[in-house]
Amino acid sequence: MNKDFQNLSPELLEIYCKKLKVNSCPHCNSKRFIKHSRYKYTQRYRCLECGRTFIPSTGTSLHYLHKKEVFIEYSKIIRDQGLLSLKKMRELCKISHLTAFDWRHKILLSMPENNRKFNGEVQCDDIWFVYSEKGRKLVAGARRRPLREPFKHREFTCRLISLSDGKNTEMKLVKVGNLNFKDYLPAFEDKIGRNSVIYNVSGEQKLKRFAKERAAIHKFVGDINKKTEAKYFAIRNELKEFINKTLKGVSTKYLQMYAGYYSYCKHKIFDPLSEAFLNRRRVWFTYTRLDVIYYHFVYFATQVLLIDLNKRTWKSTEKVPIPDNCMVYKITDWDVDQRYSFEEVKEYFDRK
Ligand SMILES: [Zn+2]
Repeated sequence: MNKDFQNLSPELLEIYCKKLKVNSCPHCNSKRFIKHSRYKYTQRYRCLECGRTFIPSTGTSLHYLHKKEVFIEYSKIIRDQGLLSLKKMRELCKISHLTAFDWRHKILLSMPENNRKFNGEVQCDDIWFVYSEKGRKLVAGARRRPLREPFKHREFTCRLISLSDGKNTEMKLVKVGNLNFKDYLPAFEDKIGRNSVIYNVSGEQKLKRFAKERAAIHKFVGDINKKTEAKYFAIRNELKEFINKTLKGVSTKYLQMYAGYYSYCKHKIFDPLSEAFLNRRRVWFTYTRLDVIYYHFVYFATQVLLIDLNKRTWKSTEKVPIPDNCMVYKITDWDVDQRYSFEEVKEYFDRK
């Protein structure tokens, strides 16, 4: 046997030989590629379109991983026991805190897209969480304690729009701040099948306006009965319990990922080692651009400035400028009475 295959677990071999399907170039999506020597225990390819080389795992959750065998163990724990605390994962897999954190995100990012439409009775509501900078060490006084009266500070509530028809659930983080009926639009897109009936408990007035615009397509139920209400509270409470208790809070930056995980697990088995997960080739790309994606979200959908972007960069990460039209808050114990100008923040960071 080739020496490169020695010490290779049968599982890793199976992933490379069977589970990972090479159908197109992960860089440019071209189907024109040729075999191009070998890389350790696997085949290397070269794209005839963009000229770049790749292996079966390029761009996937396994991309650039040194301890692939440990990653497999890590994935199995998540599949069988759900998301355990990072501390627990660190102990079980004997990895660093940062690795436990990174791997969890890579796994969450490898979750297959939900292309299913919503049909029949569709529950559509918004669920709020307090804006959180959890884990952001450089931000002075980053939030540690829960906000006492979140609705006094609506600019700090994150709004997720949730859609569910009993067989399919999806959530989208649309905004930090007050919801407007227009905010429902991006969440809906073309996700809801014709002749579906939309039920809504939490944002009734906003949705009414939305429903009016689309009256030809959907029937909208404004009268809320006990059954509808119960469905809404079931989803809301479950998600809140998961985010606030099981995970002990999630930074707004990652809220979408965890809400996605919750929605996925409601109807399917979350298996990071399945072909559907392993063949997601945008994981590395998205992972290294999380700051950029979050920056866009903050820029367009919030009134809160985030500072300290680009704390960690990869050679493929583009630099992010500080948005100059955002309100800047100094978050000290969540007394949101101090606002700073862009110049003041810039000066603060230039001094660092
Ligand atoms: Zn290519």
